[in-house]
Amino acid sequence: MFSYRHAFHAGNHADVLKHTVLIATLQHLLQKDAALTVLDTHAGAGLYRLDGDYASTSAESADGIQRLVPPATPPALAPALQAYVDMVRAFNQGDATRVYPGSPFIIHRLLREQDKLKLFELHPTDARSLAGNVAQLDAGRQVAVLQEDGFEGVKKFLPPPARRALLLCDPSYELKSDYGRVQDMVQDALKRFATGVYAVWYPIIPRPEAHDLPRRLKTLAVKAGKPWLHATLTVKSSKVGPSTDGEPGKRPGLPASGMFLINPPFTLQAALREALPQMAELLAQDRHAAHALESGGG
Ligand code: SAM
Repeated sequence: MFSYRHAFHAGNHADVLKHTVLIATLQHLLQKDAALTVLDTHAGAGLYRLDGDYASTSAESADGIQRLVPPATPPALAPALQAYVDMVRAFNQGDATRVYPGSPFIIHRLLREQDKLKLFELHPTDARSLAGNVAQLDAGRQVAVLQEDGFEGVKKFLPPPARRALLLCDPSYELKSDYGRVQDMVQDALKRFATGVYAVWYPIIPRPEAHDLPRRLKTLAVKAGKPWLHATLTVKSSKVGPSTDGEPGKRPGLPASGMFLINPPFTLQAALREALPQMAELLAQDRHAAHALESGGG
């Protein structure tokens, strides 16, 4: 456990999908005055340097956020994708994009005085970085950093005081058991607070648990009689390519990922219908790039 460090992956195509959906969802929820509680079950370190040792080791942002900002010259972006780019750019000065905001900082930037943010991070190093980064925000009691298991920790905050909540669940899925734990947590959360907005990110990889997760979440939503939305973004083939250098074929990095939401904002589908095809086009790494969007219930 704990070999996953998000700093290696910050700003990659999965972050583009996840954070675009997160921002569009929050922007809708924050239109109502009533206080919102946001629960981030797997928060990470909060802020990442894209030119630091971790990020440049894999340079995943080069095929993610960096394709959407200067010096890349993307066409006019769909509003949801533009809102994501504007958010990342707000953490940077000048033309270069050197800093990448993780979910805690994206969420915090959008919150109003009356809202609360609970951040769970179990990795001791990331939890320390997160606490240090959050301290700079001077956010007082609005933001809480908890070095706890996020799957369990959220239970004590559901239902929230003003009965409005967004829960982002973004595990690293290092452990095969994470898939089952996501499902159990969502099932329990729906019992505690059926009208919460639940957003789960998951990797699309050739592993039965990963394949089954969205189907299981859909079943939970349908059984609870709640609307759901499922968005996927593929940037390349998942097949191991033929060797060109005499070495055995190397498995490429993450080829695709998905976001599954229960009780999504009604505006999200239209926003993603415009943004997803653009993401697939601009982030494509080969001819297998694709996107899909489906929804139901409610
Ligand atoms: N949500 C972050 C973002 O969008 O910027 C990225 C999170 S990263 C994919 C997953 C994080 O979960 C890692 O930092 C890892 O240390 C942490 N983690 C792993 N298991 C956990 C658990 N059971 N509870 C809380 N955090 C956990």
